[in-house]
Amino acid sequence: MSTVEKTFYIETFGCQMNAHDSEKVVGTLVHEGYNQVATPEQANYIFYNTCSIRDKAEQKVYNKLQHFKNSGKGKVIGLLGCVAQQEGSKIFDRAPHVSLVAGSASYAKLPEMLVQIESGNRRVTGLDFDNPEAFDTPYTRRDNPFRTFLTIIEGCDKACAYCVVPFTRGPERSRTSESVMEEARRLADSGITELTLLGQNVNSYRDPSPVGWDFATILNEVGRIPGIRRVRFTTSHPRDFVKPIIDAIDSNPNLCDHVHLPVQSGSTQVLDGMRRLYTREQYMERIGWMKAAKRDIAITTDIIVGFPGETERDFEDTLDLLEDVQYDAIFAFKYSQRPNTSALAMGDHIPEEEKTRRIMLLNERQRAIQIRRHSQLIGSLEEVHVEGRHESLNQWMGKTSQHRTLNFTGRDAEALAGAYVPVRVTRAGPNSLVGEAVV
Ligand code: SF4
Repeated sequence: MSTVEKTFYIETFGCQMNAHDSEKVVGTLVHEGYNQVATPEQANYIFYNTCSIRDKAEQKVYNKLQHFKNSGKGKVIGLLGCVAQQEGSKIFDRAPHVSLVAGSASYAKLPEMLVQIESGNRRVTGLDFDNPEAFDTPYTRRDNPFRTFLTIIEGCDKACAYCVVPFTRGPERSRTSESVMEEARRLADSGITELTLLGQNVNSYRDPSPVGWDFATILNEVGRIPGIRRVRFTTSHPRDFVKPIIDAIDSNPNLCDHVHLPVQSGSTQVLDGMRRLYTREQYMERIGWMKAAKRDIAITTDIIVGFPGETERDFEDTLDLLEDVQYDAIFAFKYSQRPNTSALAMGDHIPEEEKTRRIMLLNERQRAIQIRRHSQLIGSLEEVHVEGRHESLNQWMGKTSQHRTLNFTGRDAEALAGAYVPVRVTRAGPNSLVGEAVV
């Protein structure tokens, strides 16, 4: 196949880890002379970077593949990510027009795998977890010149009863602090000012080198790199969330005042069934550290409704938790059974309509909290990292350190993207704020 024909299209489903993995795939392929194109029709290679966290997400991927059964003739179709890792070579039986199945630890080897396909091998897999090159991302293509992700730990050693991640991303592997710092410095030199440290359980980070940094230390050190103005991190596990993380946020202004701490349920009984390894009280202890901090730390969370055995009383405990914590945002999901998980044995007895009722009630309660929280910010001065512009509204948009969306006017249509602008909040809605730039 000639260089001209080496065109590829990639579509990404799922979380930020997947979005960042796709950047690694793009960077690796472009370095090898492949050209990225905007539509599957223009491409010779079509990749789907898949998510299997919920049944719906997985179904979407199979629907896409079905669509390409005929229209994808003559093209190489590759399945990447969590569904690929979870289903492995079984995918070839279900979708015989797929030629490549590869999990997240194999992306550095993608060019090699494509060569195998080009030399006539119809079915190629990359499913090993122990690839030492998994963190080697010299060719990551980062499209945003100001803000980016930085993976510091892969995989997960927990075994939450509902979760496929330990099966799709393998055991925890932390990167050495030296390689994290080296990449962070390189990114700062290239003009990046905001970094999000990424990991399935980012705060379980443990430097494997003799230096032995823990998560709070690496967070602090990345926040001290010249040129870096904001550091975020996601996702944290409550069991490994220790007070030094809050102390670091309190002492280092470059660390954003936002913590995403997934609770999943407000009932200790449900948490126990989920094998989350903490009680409601232990979770609230961590919330207490954040509330006692000198800075006003925004707190967001993930919640699952309708987990097997969740009674009305358990659900009310979750509703109460919203009031106790006063979250700044929640991401609520209905429980769905996933392959290989231990919760499969518990059944899925809560009817869909009841799950819908619970999730709607939860979102309604949270909406009221957000309206209250946001209206308290009217009149305050916030620093906005500008992301872009809504031309039709004549507004700039961006994020505050607390990760709130703040749209503002008061600055001309000059090149503001990537700038940090002080903005006075003038109006508040449940999901965003509006303000006026302070000149
Ligand atoms: S901590 Fe639990 S929910 Fe998070 S990735 Fe690991 S198993 Fe999944």
